[in-house]
Amino acid sequence: MSATPDVTPRYLSLPDDEFERRANALRERYADCDLCSYDCGVDRTDGQVGACKVDDTAYVSSYFPHFGEEDCLKGWNGSGTIFLAHCNMGCVFCQNAETSHGGKGDAASPAEIAGMALELQEKGCHNINFVTPTHHSPHLVEAVRLAREDGLRVPVVWNCGGYERPEILERLDGIVDVYMPDVKWSDDSLAAKYSKAPNYWSNVKRSLREMHRQVGDLRLDGDGLATGGILVRHLVMPNHVENSKRVAEFVAELSDETYLNVMGQYRPEHLALTEERYAEISRSLRPDEYTQVVDHALERLERVEYDGRMYRG
Ligand code: SF4
Repeated sequence: MSATPDVTPRYLSLPDDEFERRANALRERYADCDLCSYDCGVDRTDGQVGACKVDDTAYVSSYFPHFGEEDCLKGWNGSGTIFLAHCNMGCVFCQNAETSHGGKGDAASPAEIAGMALELQEKGCHNINFVTPTHHSPHLVEAVRLAREDGLRVPVVWNCGGYERPEILERLDGIVDVYMPDVKWSDDSLAAKYSKAPNYWSNVKRSLREMHRQVGDLRLDGDGLATGGILVRHLVMPNHVENSKRVAEFVAELSDETYLNVMGQYRPEHLALTEERYAEISRSLRPDEYTQVVDHALERLERVEYDGRMYRG
């Protein structure tokens, strides 16, 4: 079995001048930032910060072969995960608050990030998995361009919160192979309360349609490794089964072959543990809540992952 999925990543077909044009066009956005749906309009090149709380310096908190991802990403050598610090959402239940909200990480240039990607490929990782990438899209596109020159050949995964903008995603068309949005809410008031993300639901729907337009349904090679497409994640929250059902319904509207991973491992963390106003999500998920959502998804979708395994609906 080859560790490199049996596919030509899309970024290998992008002409040099177009790749450079995309990277430059994205970098210009730092000066009047609209890289995500917050559309803060701050000049990050001048030290200003928006909701993601970071200027135009990218910070990497860690990079390593990750064996906790879906089977089609982790394979047998791991998913080549590069965790970016900071985040463009402010989830009060975040399990990585030190990194996402605290910004813990080391400054990294595009060339250094390219080096990390190549190192992970060298270790046999089956893909490069950028986690929380959106607020540093310019750095990452440039990193892929540089890594390609030095021999990167595995698919690129965009592991995000769904709070993207179609206009920015268009710049990633032909560069990202697998989009992996974690769709958290189907209700704007819940998104505003728990993730500090205004108008999340309308934005996430537009973004997922654009992702699906670009890459289509998830495709696997003969060894079960992801080669391209969209993989949607959804973490079921306590007391919010209806929210989850609407997410599954929307995902099925994209295509009934859309791969949906229904995750049931929610545990209260960060502010959800300490603040009374988040009491609704201050407990773990009950098995019956999870089952209701899984059943709803299986009625609508052909490919549903739950309890860490993929099933056909
Ligand atoms: S990437 Fe950061 S500064 Fe830019 S729009 Fe999003 S939250 Fe605001």
